[in-house]
Amino acid sequence: MPSARPVFVVTGPSGAGKGTLIKGLHGRVSDIEVAVSATTRPQRPGERDGLEYRFLSDEEFTRRVDEGEFLEWVKYVSGRRYGTLRSEMERIAADGKTCILELELEGALRVQDQVSGSVTIFIAADVPELERRLRERATESTGEIGGRIALARNQLEQAHLFRYMVRNDDVERATSAVAAIVECEMAFAGTMAPP
Ligand code: 5GP
Repeated sequence: MPSARPVFVVTGPSGAGKGTLIKGLHGRVSDIEVAVSATTRPQRPGERDGLEYRFLSDEEFTRRVDEGEFLEWVKYVSGRRYGTLRSEMERIAADGKTCILELELEGALRVQDQVSGSVTIFIAADVPELERRLRERATESTGEIGGRIALARNQLEQAHLFRYMVRNDDVERATSAVAAIVECEMAFAGTMAPP
């Protein structure tokens, strides 16, 4: 899929702070919008359908997979499915905005392969810090936190597969680093001749 503006993919292990860093971009970088993914995982308290995610039943998710509505989708460690809707990315592009995707690694690699002009940013954090954040967030069961930590250890070894790596040991510094990457890549894309 050719794209005039870069599509930014923020990835990394659960608890690395991807969501916090992305929120921090608003106000620092103009005309960006985070694509709302679809998922079959249950809604957490405070989450609203259509804002954090589109919460779909298993049947509805499968129907959309069959219709080819997803750019990518994965079955996560929890057994729940998550996917990026093509229509959501198209809507953001049609609004003249730069699309930000927050994805786990498998999906991020797929977008990196399939979307020309995609820019991947891996957010890293130390394992003890990840564990502390997940326990503090307390949105998953103890068993599920264990699964996410085991996955995180494995994922941290894959950071080199992505274009950029930002260590989130200091939120302010890491947010500035991600904002600098986004602005720099957007400025660079603006200097390229159209295909
Ligand atoms: P959570 O359940 O904590 O909201 O998300 C679990 C993981 O799924 C996170 O790493 C998040 O980045 C990832 N994720 C959210 N939406 C998508 C998506 O559309 N596709 C993929 N591949 N991963 C997603």
